[in-house]
Amino acid sequence: MRDRPRSRVRLNFDHLAGFRQEARDWLAANVPERRAPPDGPASRAFALDWVARCHAGGWSGLGWPEAYGGRDLSPAHLAVWYEEYVRARAPSVLDPTFVALNHAGPTLIALGTEAQKRDHLRPILEGRVLWCQGFSEPGSGSDLASLTTRGEIVGDDIVVTGQKIWSSFADIAEFQELLIRTEPGSTRHKGLTWVICDMSLPGITVRPIRNMAGASHFAEVFYDQVRIPLSNVVGQPGDGWRVAMATLGFERKTAAIGTQMELSVKVEDLIAMAAAAPGSATADRLADLRAEAAGLRAMTYRTLFRDPATPFDGSLMRLTFAELAQRVHGAAMDILGPEALAQSHWTHDYLEAYSETIAGGTAEIQRNIIAERILGLPRE
Ligand SMILES: Cc1cc2nc3c(=O)[nH]c(=O)nc-3n(C[C@H](O)[C@H](O)[C@H](O)COP(=O)(O)OP(=O)(O)OC[C@H]3O[C@@H](n4cnc5c(N)ncnc54)[C@H](O)[C@@H]3O)c2cc1C
Repeated sequence: MRDRPRSRVRLNFDHLAGFRQEARDWLAANVPERRAPPDGPASRAFALDWVARCHAGGWSGLGWPEAYGGRDLSPAHLAVWYEEYVRARAPSVLDPTFVALNHAGPTLIALGTEAQKRDHLRPILEGRVLWCQGFSEPGSGSDLASLTTRGEIVGDDIVVTGQKIWSSFADIAEFQELLIRTEPGSTRHKGLTWVICDMSLPGITVRPIRNMAGASHFAEVFYDQVRIPLSNVVGQPGDGWRVAMATLGFERKTAAIGTQMELSVKVEDLIAMAAAAPGSATADRLADLRAEAAGLRAMTYRTLFRDPATPFDGSLMRLTFAELAQRVHGAAMDILGPEALAQSHWTHDYLEAYSETIAGGTAEIQRNIIAERILGLPRE
């Protein structure tokens, strides 16, 4: 077999020791002591307050361009920041600011107009606005290209009528990444448009949905003749599929760094908890989980530093993370036993973890992508 060039990635990041110390010191002085409220306006206030505090300290938008309020730092800096972030037990990255910071902002940076970047990026970094995502519909989840929410171009506006579902944080967000069909008679990936939707526009109704963990993170959204300015289109009208794929790419890949590192910390917490009630079966299981979490971290770093990363690495990471998250929380329930009922955050997170193999593309869909696009197996 021919030798292939190997990537030379320094995973210890020794050269960033000063930056690491700076991050550690700032986090030690600023991480809030109380846990984030589970949902609703209280979770919104908590999340925005935290982003505003990060921004004031120079710790938001580390990888974003300086021209839009970021710091233009390297992926290595991001990795170090998240390592310190989770070590300091800072608020979960999977909070109501997740969409804005991790995929709406990056989509605008990559494909938005100058005016869209100017209007939206700083408010996100300064903790002034939340975003949500309106892609899925009752009949169009895995098969997103079948969506039917209609946008009729009338003068300088798009008039939107239809319904979205599972739109995370729609009840507390100012803006939505909205994917609609704007070319009459078009089918599948053609004729779609990605548009910035102001959630306060007349004709929008938001109905929160409660999940089995008891929280209302997502909602149904109904649009009745909602007039959105054409200047809010990201990319071109009819080119929405390409923009949506960019958004999903950010959601499945770079956005995952923080959540994956949080999972590693949970494994260490479990090990500490199990030390109080040692048993070899538990020890083997925890050793496996720790090794899997390390493997996932290596996969994430490889994706972050590989140039060019394949566009489908995100599916590998998303699938590995989702299934590992369920195993970690399942182990927590077994270790805690009846105690789990008293340790409510573990029980809550265990129930929430069921959604990991659905949100952002189900496990089956990720497997299809890996099979067809990475392994080159025949298409369905
Ligand atoms: C916590 C959470 C947050 C979410 N947040 C958002 C959000 O903010 N915005 C948004 O737009 N959506 C969001 N979603 C929706 C999510 O993207 C969809 O639930 C997901 O894409 C699956 O679509 P569906 O629910 O319609 O299931 P379906 O597509 O109906 O799938 C049902 C089952 O069939 C399987 N299946 C479907 N097609 C195939 C196939 N071709 N091959 C093999 N199996 C298949 C699926 O894997 C699944 O098991 C969220 C979902 C969750 C759980």
